[in-house]
Amino acid sequence: SKVITLKERPSGKPEEKNFEFKTEDKPEIGEGEILLESKYISVDPYLRGRMRDEDSYIPPFKIDEPLASMVVAEVIESKSNDFEKGDHVSGMLDWKEIQKHTGEGLNKITNKDVPLSAYLGILGLTGLTAYLALETIGKLKEGETLLVSGAAGAVGSVVGQIGKIKGCRVVGIAGTDEKIDHIKSKFGFDAGINYKTTENIKEDIAKACPDGVDVYFDNVGGDILDAAMQNINDFARIINCGAISIYNKEEVPKGMRLEGIMVKKRALMQGFIVRDHADQFQDAIKQLGSWLADDKLKFDETKREGFDNVPKAFIEIFEGKNTGKMLVKV
Ligand code: NDP
Repeated sequence: SKVITLKERPSGKPEEKNFEFKTEDKPEIGEGEILLESKYISVDPYLRGRMRDEDSYIPPFKIDEPLASMVVAEVIESKSNDFEKGDHVSGMLDWKEIQKHTGEGLNKITNKDVPLSAYLGILGLTGLTAYLALETIGKLKEGETLLVSGAAGAVGSVVGQIGKIKGCRVVGIAGTDEKIDHIKSKFGFDAGINYKTTENIKEDIAKACPDGVDVYFDNVGGDILDAAMQNINDFARIINCGAISIYNKEEVPKGMRLEGIMVKKRALMQGFIVRDHADQFQDAIKQLGSWLADDKLKFDETKREGFDNVPKAFIEIFEGKNTGKMLVKV
């Protein structure tokens, strides 16, 4: 069966030549172990960070070793008391068609009312990120204005919908007019800004947010963060969730000169990492699941087909080819 390894560290935007396909024999499982067949593989912007030789909150990938991400897999053999053949699990797994595992740290998928792939998106880390970052840092109040970048993506589209559930004005920033139309018609955003065609993003944010920005949910960093910061209200909350606009830069651009704004506005800016909140995942999944069941939350997936397309799907995230969660159906 096939395995995808990191052949070399990308410089700038990742390319298919940075990855290598290898084959390995089907592993034999021992007592207590299970054999897993990958069904859906999540590709995520943060994996770019793990391809650098830098210490971060998770260790870097090693050259010539398999990459890994969240995967939904089926148990195809079991010598474990906890799993049966035919069970489905989600968890951090290698980019392999088939792999053995002890089962430790895997979540067994029991609710089959939602599609399996949802456990990589709306009921997986991106949905949890949207919900828990808003709960712990955003603290939205009815009538406030929420601005979110990466608005048509996996995290951003959920952030906007939760904003609407909480009774806020919601404005999204994304990279095509189609995405802007889509977040308004499908997800109920009040307004949207195309950051690629805007002539002055700071002014367009001001126009779309006539009462200023109370919560800015930042998925992109860079110039868009600067522009958002120049529109914040007193006691605004800025959630630093991601900075995809700089992930492929070899040198991190110099920081903002906006400390004055933070003081004047007594704003709070805080970084967020979803894994810090594992103790809240079960409650959060319950809440997200109940909004889904009540049709208050909708979600998009961009699915690529076939294990061979995992690297390409990953690269496409940086080209904005996805709407909602980008994943590969193996
Ligand atoms: P998305 O589904 O949002 O996909 C990424 C999107 O980013 C693309 O579709 C593209 O849309 C946009 N984009 C790409 N390049 C740029 C650029 N240079 N400037 C602005 N936008 C760009 O991904 P996720 O929802 O999975 O992740 C969103 C963010 O949240 C990322 O920064 C990610 O790292 C972060 N994240 C953080 C977590 C945490 O715990 N802190 C957990 C999960 C995600 P467009 O067409 O609009 O350009």
